[in-house]
Amino acid sequence: MLVTKCVSTNLKGHLTIGGADAIELAEEFGTPLYVYSENKIRQKIREFVLSMNKYYNGNGLVCYASKAFSCKEMYRICMQENIGVDVVSGGELYTALSVGFPAEKIVFHGNNKTPEELSAAVESGVGRIVVDNITELKMLDEIAASEGKTAGIMLRIKPGIDAHTHDFIKTGQIDSKFGFALETGEAMEAVKAALGMKNLKLRGLHSHIGSQIFDVDPFCLAAKVMLEFYRDIKAETGVELEELNLGGGFGIKYLRSDAHEAYGEYMKQVSAVVHSFSHELGIKTPFILIEPGRSIVGVAGATLYTVGSVKKIPGVRTYVSVDGGMTDNPRYALYKSDYEVVCANRAEEDRTEIVTVAGKCCESGDLIQENTKIQPVKPGDILTVLSTGAYNYSMASNYNRIPRPAVVMVKDGEARVAVKRETYDQISQNDI
Ligand SMILES: *Cc1c(COP(=O)(O)O)cnc(C)c1O
Repeated sequence: MLVTKCVSTNLKGHLTIGGADAIELAEEFGTPLYVYSENKIRQKIREFVLSMNKYYNGNGLVCYASKAFSCKEMYRICMQENIGVDVVSGGELYTALSVGFPAEKIVFHGNNKTPEELSAAVESGVGRIVVDNITELKMLDEIAASEGKTAGIMLRIKPGIDAHTHDFIKTGQIDSKFGFALETGEAMEAVKAALGMKNLKLRGLHSHIGSQIFDVDPFCLAAKVMLEFYRDIKAETGVELEELNLGGGFGIKYLRSDAHEAYGEYMKQVSAVVHSFSHELGIKTPFILIEPGRSIVGVAGATLYTVGSVKKIPGVRTYVSVDGGMTDNPRYALYKSDYEVVCANRAEEDRTEIVTVAGKCCESGDLIQENTKIQPVKPGDILTVLSTGAYNYSMASNYNRIPRPAVVMVKDGEARVAVKRETYDQISQNDI
């Protein structure tokens, strides 16, 4: 059993991704290669949308957090599935708009948006700009005035819940670069300031408590904290906010030992909390937004590499070097992230070797995984790293002037290029 159901093996004993033979993909498109199962992406989107319909009467919007994997084809898929998207930069906004993504369904985040980014958002009619600080609030009001528009905004709030992977704590958590703090009164001041801005329409508030979270409790707690604040806002200003954005951060399976993902269960419990709590507090049941990123694309993607050298250092370890590395997947170097590695042309053999998979950059820390169990491999074999769909392509770099790999989408077993492989010309084209 492999960690995700969108990979399997075929009669040749090769790994398949979204129904396509990984070895054929490597031959046709070259390595390193990002491969996505489009069906899996759509299935994950629909899981969120259906559970929003089922448990919250569809009174909300699922917004894909596109920093997890941003390219034109991904925005097209979101558009076809009728969901919204989050963007966190002018570049992501530009890409989404370039495929005709409806601006009303775009949410724009960031703790330090530039005047140019804010102007672009106002001009294109972005539905919700999530304002992070007072400087931005004032700047945005002026920009909206000069454009002759009213900009829809939300305010980013630190709800004081710090959720890490497996445990969470309710803390002051004032030490974050994102948003307005609740307990210092800063958030209430910001709400009042926003309500007084002539060219801004405060649609609601936003909170995002972390990433790769499996437990539903911290999300429920965050919803409660936010709704209590809505009650306080109503009491102090008489205004009832219409919308509540609960952020993203739902965990995915990187290893077989990771918890089972149950996004329906999240929606069920959070919906119940929002319904009952808003009723109890005497406030309107808000329209809700959720922002899954990793949980939509993470397990839908895999990376293919060709093995170069296999270096056995007796009594130390075995390095299996591949033709990519931290340039296409910086997550191990950054966070020591776990991944499952499989040899695609020996997928049905037993995984009997413990090796370190190393990249090709001139950097000792350029590792994809240490002490991972894989099949015995030889130079020329194709390695697959599973669940690389989130924060891999979008975090890729040109360190060592290594071109970014191509992205291939597989739909019903048919593969097509979604992003072309970068060329040396493209890497050096801005050099004078
Ligand atoms: C990164 C981010 C998300 C998505 O987080 P995931 O862990 O990928 O689900 C959602 N909302 C905001 C504001 C974010 O910064």
